[in-house]
Parts: sequence; structure tokens; C-alpha cells
Amino acid sequence: MSSEKKSDYIIEHDDYTHWDINLGDKKVHARRIPGRFRNIRWAVMASLLLPFFLAPYLTWGDRQAILFDIPGRKFYLFDITIWPQDLIILALLMLFAFVLLFAMTAIAGRIFCGNMCPQTMWTDLMTLIERWAEGSARQRIKLDAMPWNAEKIRKRALKHLMWIILCTTTSVTFLGYFSGIYDAWYGLFTLQYNVYEWVSFILVFVLFYVSTGYVREQVCNWICPYARIQAVMTDKDTITTTYDYHRGEPRGRRKKGQDNDSLGDCVDCNLCVSVCPTGVDIRNGNQIGCINCGVCIDACDDIMEKVGKEKGLIRFMSYHELENQSTTHRRFLRPRPLFYIAITTATFLGIMYGLFFKSDIDINVRHERSPLYTLMSDRSIQNVFHTIILNKTEHAAKFTLEASGIDGLISNLDGKILELKTGEAKKVTLRVKVPQKNLTQERQPITLTLRSIDNPEIFKVYESMFFGPKR
Ligand code: SF4
Ligand code: SF4
Repeated sequence: MSSEKKSDYIIEHDDYTHWDINLGDKKVHARRIPGRFRNIRWAVMASLLLPFFLAPYLTWGDRQAILFDIPGRKFYLFDITIWPQDLIILALLMLFAFVLLFAMTAIAGRIFCGNMCPQTMWTDLMTLIERWAEGSARQRIKLDAMPWNAEKIRKRALKHLMWIILCTTTSVTFLGYFSGIYDAWYGLFTLQYNVYEWVSFILVFVLFYVSTGYVREQVCNWICPYARIQAVMTDKDTITTTYDYHRGEPRGRRKKGQDNDSLGDCVDCNLCVSVCPTGVDIRNGNQIGCINCGVCIDACDDIMEKVGKEKGLIRFMSYHELENQSTTHRRFLRPRPLFYIAITTATFLGIMYGLFFKSDIDINVRHERSPLYTLMSDRSIQNVFHTIILNKTEHAAKFTLEASGIDGLISNLDGKILELKTGEAKKVTLRVKVPQKNLTQERQPITLTLRSIDNPEIFKVYESMFFGPKR
């Protein structure tokens, strides 16, 4: 291939009018072939889908191990109970997921889309079912064109029956994370869902049925908001599925063993296009419809092996690597991914700290400001603290709330027991009195301690200030 033709190719394929953009007017029937990236997809899907479908059946003590108890306003995660007051942990979890996604995108483009996105995974399952029921891609194209007859009705009915089973299982599993999995199945079979359960069941069912059964790659191309914003996270060092046009062009058909010096390595077999789940011809350059699933790499490697050429005509690499302007270490060692990885690590550590040092009780304190202190008739100084105490244990519990830190200090709660139900938040007013003679400064540190009577190891300390007259 001459250098003149190479530069023509770059200009031509930097022009977006050469992208393969399926506007939904053609149905993609991708071929399925075995290969390295196909196996990776299976492994990733298994590692994500099996936990999703099976986790609700795990129990922890006498309850479901993972449960979003909306009426009880708490989230169970095995031994850990997350209350609304712990929302910071959930917020950090969401931040972690987003930034991890950004980091993955900066390093490897739409790798999440091609392997881990629910839309892609369920589409893969739905098309697998389609293949079982209606045959190979070629047979499905024929079936689409065929007039309705007994065979077409039988195949379509079988496909829709299996789709219904998959989407029902998905929807019930989703509901099971909120209502309890056995209640979710029982409620469906006995038609005893409440209105919220019916709404969520139908919404999830329809969403999966339509988006992964019919709309498919159009979601990735046009609907998904993440697909719209990812361009700002990638650069010319991001690795994507790339056709090596230096090697491949000019493309042309030939037989095995037949060498033709005027042609590149691409034998124009079109297999990379026919296996693509989004209908992209990656030889036209990197484009928005490519979800980096890698199955065209499997396809092309297979062809290269058959025609006796080196594998990797299509491979994961960055634009700079393709043009010999950088080495592979730039995939990770550049500011953008390092920045995302630093935030991801910090967020992860924050989540771990939050989960493992989460207290079973909590206290919120507001010092009365008006007045800041009161001079009592017995010549003591009184400060008032408005507190909210919270029992985040799984049972009713008794507590004491004590103040300490200044000689002669007494409070209205000395010797009193505070009883709280599980999850209960209670307002408690603490009146602390100190003999005026014991106050050496205008403000002195004071410690409020909320402690469980049943288990003194469970306590929460709050540091505050005790105010008195100016000195
Ligand atoms: S072009 Fe290749 S990597 Fe991109 S979506 Fe199609 S098959 Fe997957
Ligand atoms: S699979 Fe490889 S050889 Fe066949 S058309 Fe695609 S790039 Fe060319």
C-alpha cells in the first residue's frame, strides 16, 4: 500500500459520513462464532449474571442476605445494615461505580458496553434464545422474509415463550431484592402483588423485553446517555477495537496460499461485519457504534489463520499505537486514567472505612444558642444540648447518655435509661449543670457519650463545648 493511499484512507475515515450508522431500518442478525473474546464475554456474563440471579436466595440468619427493605427504610448486606443515616456509603458506592466506569472508558473505550452492560448481556441472552428457536443468522434472515406459515408461527411462538420466561425471571429477581425473593415468586403465581409490585414487575419486564428483544443495538447507538458522554473520556491513547489498515489495505479476495503483493492482508471476507452485534464495519475506522466487544477480532483471527497470515489484523490498540506514535505503557500511564484510578481508589477506601467502622448507634447534637448558658439560682451554669439518638441495631435496646469533662458536672439524664426500638430515632434534651466556681474558662470541652447498656462496647462519643460567662 503506498503512503499516498494511507493518507487518503486516514482523511476518508476521519470523516464521520463513513461511519456505519444503523438507523434502525435494518435488523442486525449477527453470526455467533467461538473465540477468545467470545469466551471472555461468557466468563464476564457468568460472573455478573449468576450472582444477580442467585444472590436473593442466600440467607443470613433468619432473613434474606441482600435485601432493600423500603418500608423498614434499611438495606441489608449480609451482616451489615445500612440505614438512611448511612446514605453517605451508598453515595460513595455510586460515585465509585461511576468513576470506575470513567477509568475503564479512558483506558479501553466502550469495554463496559461490550461486556458488562445489562443491555448487552441480556441482548446476548435474547439473541441466543432467538438462535435456538429460529436457527442461524442466515436462517433468521430467511425467516424474516418468509410469509407467515405454520413453521414461522411455531418458531416465533417458541422464541417469545422463552423470552417471556427470561424476562419474567429477570423481573421477579429484581423485585426479589426489594420484596424478598420467595414472596416475589409467590405474589406472581397467586397474583397477590400490591400496586407498587405490579408496577415495578411490569416496568422491568417491558423494559427488558423491548430494549433487549427488539431495540437492541439501537439503545447503544442512540438512547443510552453514557454512550453520548463517553467521547469526553477517551483520547488517542484509549485502546479500542481497531483495524490495522497499514496491513489490511488495499483489501481483496484471494485463495489460501495465493500471494498477491498488490493486496493487503484483508481478504474482504466480510466475516468481521457479519459477527458484529451492532452492525459495524470496523474497517471503516473507529466509530460510535462499536461497543468494543472484540468478537470481530475472533472472526478476523480465524480468517488470518486460515489464509496463513499473522493474527491481529483487527486488534485492541490505540490510535497512537496504530500510527506508531506511542507504546503500550501509555494505555495506563497518562494523566486521565491515573486521575480516575486515584479517585476510584480513594472512594473504595472510603466505602470500606464506612462499612467496617460503621457504628450501631448514632447521636446528633445541637447546642442551644439562645441563651448559650443560663445562670441558675444555685450559682451553677447550665447549658442545654438538643440531641437526636438513633438505634441502628436489629433489636430494641437501652442506652445511657452521659456528659463528662468538667469537675462537679451533673445532668438531667444521670442514672436515666433511654429505651429505643430498632431503627428508632429519639429526640432527647440534655441539661448539663456545672458549679460556676469550677469553670476556669469562658468555654471548656465537654464529652457526651451515648452507650448501650446491653453491650457497653457499643458507644458513640460526641465532643462539644460548655459555655459560661466571660472571664
Ligand atoms: S466492530 Fe467489532 S468490537 Fe466493535 S461492536 Fe462490532 S464486533 Fe464488537
Ligand atoms: S474478517 Fe478480517 S479479513 Fe475478513 S473482511 Fe474483516 S478484516 Fe478483512
